[in-house]
Amino acid sequence: MIRFEKVTKEYKDGIKAVHSLDVEIKKGEFFVFIGPSGCGKTTTMKMINRLIDSTEGSIYIQGKNIHEYDIHELRWNIGYVLQQIALFPHMTIEENISIVPELRKWNKEKVSRRVDELLEMVGMDPKTFKKRKPNELSGGQQQRIGVIRALAADPDIILMDEPFSALDPISREKLQMDIADLQKRIQKTIVFVTHDMQEALALGDRIGIMRDGILVQADTPENLLKNPADDFVKEFIGNRSIHTLSAFNNEDILVKDLESKLNPIDPASGYSSVVSAETSLDEVIRQLAESDAIAVEKDGIAIGVLTSQTIVKHLAEMRAAR
Ligand code: ADP
Ligand code: MG
Repeated sequence: MIRFEKVTKEYKDGIKAVHSLDVEIKKGEFFVFIGPSGCGKTTTMKMINRLIDSTEGSIYIQGKNIHEYDIHELRWNIGYVLQQIALFPHMTIEENISIVPELRKWNKEKVSRRVDELLEMVGMDPKTFKKRKPNELSGGQQQRIGVIRALAADPDIILMDEPFSALDPISREKLQMDIADLQKRIQKTIVFVTHDMQEALALGDRIGIMRDGILVQADTPENLLKNPADDFVKEFIGNRSIHTLSAFNNEDILVKDLESKLNPIDPASGYSSVVSAETSLDEVIRQLAESDAIAVEKDGIAIGVLTSQTIVKHLAEMRAAR
């Protein structure tokens, strides 16, 4: 869907913000770029809708070089959500959402129906909110409008650049759930930027980890966990705040899905690995590279089964506890 081929961006002052980026984001995928501040995430995003031109390499959308598209057509087909809430303050919510549909010359009735539909989609009553100005909404509500405005003209691609990072933790988590849910229903291709690993794990089908303009690794959360390309990835994905599996037990995440009274220590149970509940998370992750599921025992009794999915889920949910 979106293919980067050896894409490099060097700014005038000689800074290589993005270096020979090669990656393909698939149709319907939720792809998350993550990395420290200044690693080139925003530059990467802005090259997709040509707010920034690459200095080398090419980007293709549905097999066609982005330079072969009419620039308006390209941008109208790519929704863009920014970190800072970028609603026009003098316009009503309805007018803000209608901008691109109107540019695309949809008729009034269709635009109006679309505005109602989008507001309802994110649980905001059209009657209550349509005629309000942005400053009559909370930060979370404004950002929700930012998201649906990007969806308004039904683009195939949505770019979201740290869309929730200015929000308080509760609105942020609510919007993360909204967007994950939305993605399941509307099946858009979403490219999402964050510097928050929990957010990436909670949302991404695949996560691309960047450092100093280089895409170090792009993979599913489970594979990043099991086969990190290097220590940087390992550090990034591993959560140093949990040391042993006991943390999992306490939160009742690990042991919930113990299928039966199988004794995992019995080879017949099918688990090739058994670890104690006091094992460090690092060690478990290392073992998961070799087997898909690991049984956990405490005082000789099987208390649960760990898979990389369980760990990813756990790490993603850690955000609630931060
Ligand atoms: P991120 O979004 O990951 O924080 P950016 O893509 O914004 O990173 O920036 C990557 C690098 O490029 C940084 O070193 C930044 O200072 C530099 N940079 C970004 N925009 C410009 C610009 N317009 N001119 C020169 N350097 C820039
Ligand atoms: Mg940025």
